[in-house]
Amino acid sequence: MNAPPRFRDVIGSHDIALIVLDTLRYDVAAAELAAGRTPHLAALAPDGRWERRHTPGSFTFPAHQAFFAGFLPTPAEPAPYERLFAAAFPGSAEAHVGPGTWTFEQATVVEALTARGYRTVCLGGVGFFNGRTALGSVLPALFGEHHWSERTGVTDPACLDHQLDVLDRVVTDPDPRPRFVYVNVPAIHQPNHFYLDDIASTPDTRPPDTLASHAAALRYVDSRIPRLRDLLTTGPRPVFTIVCSDHGTAYGDDGFDGHRLAHDCVWTVPYLHTVLDPRTGETT
Ligand SMILES: [Zn+2]
Repeated sequence: MNAPPRFRDVIGSHDIALIVLDTLRYDVAAAELAAGRTPHLAALAPDGRWERRHTPGSFTFPAHQAFFAGFLPTPAEPAPYERLFAAAFPGSAEAHVGPGTWTFEQATVVEALTARGYRTVCLGGVGFFNGRTALGSVLPALFGEHHWSERTGVTDPACLDHQLDVLDRVVTDPDPRPRFVYVNVPAIHQPNHFYLDDIASTPDTRPPDTLASHAAALRYVDSRIPRLRDLLTTGPRPVFTIVCSDHGTAYGDDGFDGHRLAHDCVWTVPYLHTVLDPRTGETT
């Protein structure tokens, strides 16, 4: 398998997809993959495993503000690395900006891709992507189009299926522009206890969320990766695809619950990037 191309070399020639598996913990992601229970995500990873990274934010809003400005999760081990993209900023020369980094004058990669002729599409997601309040509109308003409904939110056990139904309509629109598709997958975010039961069960009567239901939610997401992949690759262009989490969450770890707090289970996240080729269906 070849190494993905430099990000600065794909602008205009490739579609771009950023898939955030909101709230997914690294330890759960790695364990499920190692056990063979997330085969479709494993197939996306260039070396068959998640990279262990640190997120710049402990909850959705700051993590995405950073992501869109070019501060994606960073390697969890001390090592040189190069950012994929970066908003121009004094000191950027020292901020892991290298020859492969795409730098731009806009404040976010969404606005920068819009300026380069991309169709930018946001599929939410958790509350910060619902567009229902001023705060919930900050992130989706960056995009040329954004989609959210209760059926694509955190409380619907089939949320990703409904998001993919929307994506199906997006990609069948004969728009010639290259695409930047951002998907905020809310399934793993609490509540997730219904994934241990039938997908149509009533959330109100179920036991609390646990690490086991977090993992079950991830397996639900994995089962939908083939459809996501097929929809992303319907266009004529290869798709530079980033899959990561924005933060983890605690289930009683050292007494902590939830996220928006500094704990290893919150700031350590899984990450991969690859290129999906529409001609062969292969990663490159
Ligand atoms: Zn989040």
